Amino acid sequence: MRTLVLNAGYEPLAVVSFKRALVLVMNRKATVVQIDREHPVWSASGVWERPSVILLTRYVRIPRARAVPVSRRGVLRRDDHRCAYCGKSASTIDHVLPRSRGGRDTWDNLVACCLRCNNVKGDHTPSEMGWNMLVDPRMPQGTGWVMRGVERPLPQWDAYLAPAA
Ligand SMILES: [Zn+2]
Repeated sequence: MRTLVLNAGYEPLAVVSFKRALVLVMNRKATVVQIDREHPVWSASGVWERPSVILLTRYVRIPRARAVPVSRRGVLRRDDHRCAYCGKSASTIDHVLPRSRGGRDTWDNLVACCLRCNNVKGDHTPSEMGWNMLVDPRMPQGTGWVMRGVERPLPQWDAYLAPAA
C-alpha cells in the first residue's frame, strides 16, 4: 500500500510506502491528511490507521519542473494509447506535420495514431485530409510525469493530484 506525500504547501511531492509514511508521521515530520479506513494496519501493538495522504510539516524545496523529454512511449501514454484522428486503439505515433515536410520530434508535433490512420495519412497534414484532431498535443504536465508511483493513483488521492495533462 502506498501513501501520497504532500509538500507543506499541499503540492503532491512523492509516493512512499505506508511504512515510510508512518515513520514520517511518528517523527512529526508529517501529519496525516487522509486515512485509508478500508485497509487498517494490523500489528502486534494493535490496529493502526493507514495514512493514504500525509502532509509534510516543513516545506521541501523542489527544483523547477524540468522539460519532459519527448519519447514514443510518452506520446502514447499522454494520448492514452488512443488515435488522435479516429479515437481507436493506437500503437504508433504520427508526426502531425510530416517529417518529410519539416515536422519535428516535439510534443506538439507527435500524437498517438492507429496503424490504419498512419498509413492513410502518409505525408499529409490533418487539414489536407480533412481530419479533425481529437487531442491538442503539447508537452505533458502534471505530477504524474514528474513523480514516480502516480501512474496508478489511489482514489483517495484524486483531490490532491493535478489533473493529468
Ligand atoms: Zn486512427
